[in-house]
Amino acid sequence: MRIIDHFIAGGTAGLGQTRRSPVYDPNTGAVQAEVVLGGAVTLERAIGAAQAAQPAWAATNPQRRARVLFRFKELVETHMAELAHLLSSEHGKVIADSRGDIQRGLEVVEFACGAPHVLKGEYTEGAGPGIDVYSMRQPIGIGAGITPFNFPAMIPLWMGAVAVSVGNAFICKPSERDPSVPVRLAELFLEAGLPAGIFQVVHGDKEMVDAILDHPAIAAVSFVGSSDIANYVYERGAANGKRVQAMGGAKNHGVVMPDADLDQVVNDLLGAAFGSAGERCMALPVVVPVGHDTAERLRAKLVAAIQALRIGVSTDTDAHYGPVVTAAAKAKIESWIGRAADEGAEIVIDGRGFALQGHEDGFFVGPTLIDHVTDTMDSYHNEIFGPVLQIVRAKDFDEAVALPSKHQYGNGVALFTRNGHAAREFAKRVQVGMVGINVPIPVPVAYHSFGGWKRSGFGDTNQHGMEGVKFWTKVKTITQRWPDGSAEMGNSFVIPTMG
Ligand code: NAD
Repeated sequence: MRIIDHFIAGGTAGLGQTRRSPVYDPNTGAVQAEVVLGGAVTLERAIGAAQAAQPAWAATNPQRRARVLFRFKELVETHMAELAHLLSSEHGKVIADSRGDIQRGLEVVEFACGAPHVLKGEYTEGAGPGIDVYSMRQPIGIGAGITPFNFPAMIPLWMGAVAVSVGNAFICKPSERDPSVPVRLAELFLEAGLPAGIFQVVHGDKEMVDAILDHPAIAAVSFVGSSDIANYVYERGAANGKRVQAMGGAKNHGVVMPDADLDQVVNDLLGAAFGSAGERCMALPVVVPVGHDTAERLRAKLVAAIQALRIGVSTDTDAHYGPVVTAAAKAKIESWIGRAADEGAEIVIDGRGFALQGHEDGFFVGPTLIDHVTDTMDSYHNEIFGPVLQIVRAKDFDEAVALPSKHQYGNGVALFTRNGHAAREFAKRVQVGMVGINVPIPVPVAYHSFGGWKRSGFGDTNQHGMEGVKFWTKVKTITQRWPDGSAEMGNSFVIPTMG
């Protein structure tokens, strides 16, 4: 059995851990490897390596650090096919989508190559008589990232690329369900010239997460995953004096106005609801048609389009989506479909019990369409995280704005319309962190920042862009005076003012 080991101090740790977790091939349902599960002892090794390497890395000038990131980007591009296959084989997303996962991460690396520019700080000459003030951003030291299964390349790079570009050491704790890609990224970072100990990977479950949250040498923790765990990580990390950002779950709505181009909307919804088998925090699992006529027209078009979707193994280049990540994920998704039926919703297309010919033990779920879902149902309030699209009918625009605004999650939302005024009002009023106007998956580009509201985001800084730079650095402000000796300074017992 292949063992997936930690990557510490520039190599596999070889700690011979006996606690392990199976890593499945979601296409077949077979166990393809085991990942070791570490805890405090493993983490201590990684911290030691980080402490040894970080001061010199922080003292390396930012342009040289950026060159390492440039080389890393080139290496990832060279290894794109290999990485995409590795990612797809553990996650189950199709190869083209796996490439997209890696590419979105690389875009953050490209942003991080600009660290010399974003670290320039601020300067005020003559803030007082002979006084200049300047501020600098310094690395926080050692940071950790705890990442979910659904973007095993992009999310470690959201955090890690920015963290190391500004001079930190970064320790990634990936999902135990698809842990191989972050290890491969760590190897490529080393090959690119990043010193050993600056980008490390430790594997584990709650035991490792708790060790990270409690370790005094870790100054900042970035988390992405489900909301209950995000909340826990936020509270425990903050209680230990750490800076914490913790992104949680989502239930994104796509509001469809009567004037929208419904053929385009259906195309957009298919990709956004069913791409990656719905296992995206920026998926659109809820569509809100405004008005009865819009709902009826949209439903008819959706039914025809969903029935034409092709589900296949993740290496099938014609498949629209592949299996979900584990048997447990499949069972959970199917139980939510059952729950929706019990709550009185109409299961228009039922993906339960789907089996792919020749891959009957794979973790496949058929595409599902559920109509007449209401805001009183549990299946509406909770994240299903599978290839399931729910229709929640709204009578008018105000009701459509209220639905995502009142929902416990506030990650992303989209509006489909041809009306600029409606779009402007929607963007202004909706209580959600990332808004798409005729853009179904409004994941911000790398130089803007990513983050949701309410139970989709705990803490107050977003991922990447300047928000990421702020998270991974601390500001120091220097007020300086260089007297020429010509005047007696005297003393003062009054708080200095600029008046
Ligand atoms: P998860 O919460 O199960 O796991 C996330 C991380 O937490 C993993 O590294 C895991 O090992 C660790 N973990 C699991 N159980 C833990 C526990 N009891 N205590 C401490 N740590 C624990 O999430 P997942 O299933 O891997 O990922 C899917 C979830 O992530 C969905 O809810 C999705 O919406 C969310 N997500 C959010 C964003 C965002 O930016 N808001 C992005 C991607 C995914």
